[in-house]
Amino acid sequence: MTEDPLVRDLTYSNVRGETFTLSQSLYRESLEALGRIGERIGEGKNRVSPGEALSMLREIYRIVDRVGESVSGHMSCSAGCAACCRMMVGVTRGEGEILRERVDREPEGERKDRWRTGLLARTETLLSMEGSADPSRPLSTLSDMLATCEAYEGKGLFCPFLGADRLCEIYEDRPLMCRICWTLTDPRDCDPGEGPPVKFRNGVFFRAFDLVILLGKAGYSDPRHRPIPLWLTLA
Ligand code: SF4
Ligand code: SF4
Repeated sequence: MTEDPLVRDLTYSNVRGETFTLSQSLYRESLEALGRIGERIGEGKNRVSPGEALSMLREIYRIVDRVGESVSGHMSCSAGCAACCRMMVGVTRGEGEILRERVDREPEGERKDRWRTGLLARTETLLSMEGSADPSRPLSTLSDMLATCEAYEGKGLFCPFLGADRLCEIYEDRPLMCRICWTLTDPRDCDPGEGPPVKFRNGVFFRAFDLVILLGKAGYSDPRHRPIPLWLTLA
């Protein structure tokens, strides 16, 4: 019998020795839904309003969440397991706007003050890191992203939005990178200096990553992909 390459590519193993397969129908439906978004923006050549871009971003979030949640029982990730929240999370202009709106919605008080202080402190850290976080650089290539991510992770600083209970305080509005950060191997591999962890990767996540970047251009004429604190503290 000939092996279906799609099924082969959608089969994974985890740290507990379980083998599982991502639903082919969910995979296809998700890619088709992402494809429709790609068509609406002409793969980045068409312009859309910022409001339309935000609505498409939210749709992309829904699509990747469905895929991730369908196999979450096989992942090593769990609430309160937050070593990954030391990463430098790169986001695009539209995602930066979603985060800005979230911060603006937060009532004045201890939490909002803590976020502001944390964001400013991390911006200073990023700007002190040689070249890698220069706000004039787009961070649109994976190698730029990874270089900054690695250097930043070594600082051991948690995301300003991580609460004392190690839960994300902006969970509903978290960016794409946090939504596709599922891990198959031991959670200890995610600690700085350990690992590397093996991530749950699939074509839906890759396509979503590309589209989110294209939406920065289509909705805002802004191709930059920058760490969260830079979007929220600098122009
Ligand atoms: S990515 Fe790693 S640190 Fe983050 S929740 Fe998953 S297992 Fe835990
Ligand atoms: S936005 Fe939330 S999930 Fe993402 S790094 Fe920050 S605390 Fe973690």
